[in-house]
Amino acid sequence: MRNRGLVVVGAGLAGVAACESARREGFSGPITLIGAESHLPYDRPPLSKELLVGEASPAVPLLRERGRFTELDIDVMTDAPAVGLDTRARVVGTGKGDVPYQHLVIACGARSRELPGTSGISGIHTLRTHSDVEAVWKRLQSPVRVVVIGAGFIGAEVASAARNYGHPVTIVEAAPAPLTRSLGAEGGALVTELHAANGTELVLGVGVESMITDSTGTTVAGVKLTDGRVVDGDLVVVGIGAAPSTEWLSDTDIGLDARDGGIECDATLAVLSSAGLPVDGVWAAGDVAHWPNALFDKRMRLEHWASASEQGAAAARNAVSGSSPMPFTTVPYFWSDWYGTRIQFVGTSHADELLVQQRRDKTGGTVVLYRSGGRVAGVLTIGRPDLIMKYRRFVTAPDSWVSGVNYGADQCR
Ligand SMILES: Cc1cc2nc3c(=O)[nH]c(=O)nc-3n(C[C@H](O)[C@H](O)[C@H](O)COP(=O)(O)OP(=O)(O)OC[C@H]3O[C@@H](n4cnc5c(N)ncnc54)[C@H](O)[C@@H]3O)c2cc1C
Repeated sequence: MRNRGLVVVGAGLAGVAACESARREGFSGPITLIGAESHLPYDRPPLSKELLVGEASPAVPLLRERGRFTELDIDVMTDAPAVGLDTRARVVGTGKGDVPYQHLVIACGARSRELPGTSGISGIHTLRTHSDVEAVWKRLQSPVRVVVIGAGFIGAEVASAARNYGHPVTIVEAAPAPLTRSLGAEGGALVTELHAANGTELVLGVGVESMITDSTGTTVAGVKLTDGRVVDGDLVVVGIGAAPSTEWLSDTDIGLDARDGGIECDATLAVLSSAGLPVDGVWAAGDVAHWPNALFDKRMRLEHWASASEQGAAAARNAVSGSSPMPFTTVPYFWSDWYGTRIQFVGTSHADELLVQQRRDKTGGTVVLYRSGGRVAGVLTIGRPDLIMKYRRFVTAPDSWVSGVNYGADQCR
């Protein structure tokens, strides 16, 4: 068996941030980064953006070259999914043997949700991994009718890429309005206008009844909707969200959220047991972690690049520093690129009121402020990448509504 040190499960963004943070903190013990995939850790945002429209088959967008891990003396295990955890003996079981730990950071992210009844039918894909993007990119190289199930951010980016090739695209969304959870109904409606402006058909408020296959019964030919309509399509991309990758923890005492299976943490990202008590030496970070964000007085699980990176660093710092663990807080931030327009959101969309401060035209230059009580709770910009981070300070400040509105009025003149 190896010597005990820091073990990080999940060789993604949060996992890499955790390893680097531990070394920055001066941790000199062994660090092992356990990954389920065959690649070194790679970045996900490019998968649904530039890599889908690139001229060559998508390269793996590595987060760090191998030399960086060597330099930091980090042992990266690939193709080694964690399959079990013994928190008393402090051992992670993997497909390549047991790995003992002194400190453990769980950063195993999430996996795409699949539509029931679609497995084994060729032409139906999700988009989360490099092999997913390779398969979708290949299909996009020749004429193809594209159906995207789910009008969320990843579905919208796939639609945008497909339109870039000139392919006909239909998005099918079961909810009456898209992105209401992330942007609120009004904000969701504003970004959704980009689809019509770019020739993507959007079908709202209708679910998927079944997949239609060709005469062989093995290849998709279309989608039957719950209202009886049929949308022809030979490439179907399912973008109906992600679920935390925690099946391997189901037989352990780790507390998992009853609704989505994410890992329950306290304010310092220390993992809680199913009885709600901190599990000694175990922390979590990234898409997999639920924690109370004191800035918003709310439990959150974010699927955003920025928070995954920040949480990885914070969890490892708390794990190895030896001093009292610090609460982790963040102002949620994400971006998405549709049809050449950048959509950005900072804060939270839970609001009493939305104020559209700027709406230059249908395809860009839109700024929306979200008010909760007397404070700016969130800000949405469409095609104003110059502004979003300037608004961040209003989201963190109490009673910031009036000053935020005045600031915006000035900026949006
Ligand atoms: C296609 C796509 C586009 C995105 N675009 C944006 C964007 O534009 N803006 C934005 O803010 N965010 C975006 N995101 C979200 C952002 O990329 C994620 O929030 C971030 O990658 C989360 O990092 P993570 O390390 O927590 O999880 P992940 O990136 O999911 O990494 C977790 C790793 O753990 C591995 N793993 C899982 N189970 C095990 C196990 N049992 N043992 C070992 N390893 C395991 C997984 O294989 C994976 O490699 C996008 C996500 C996707 C999928």
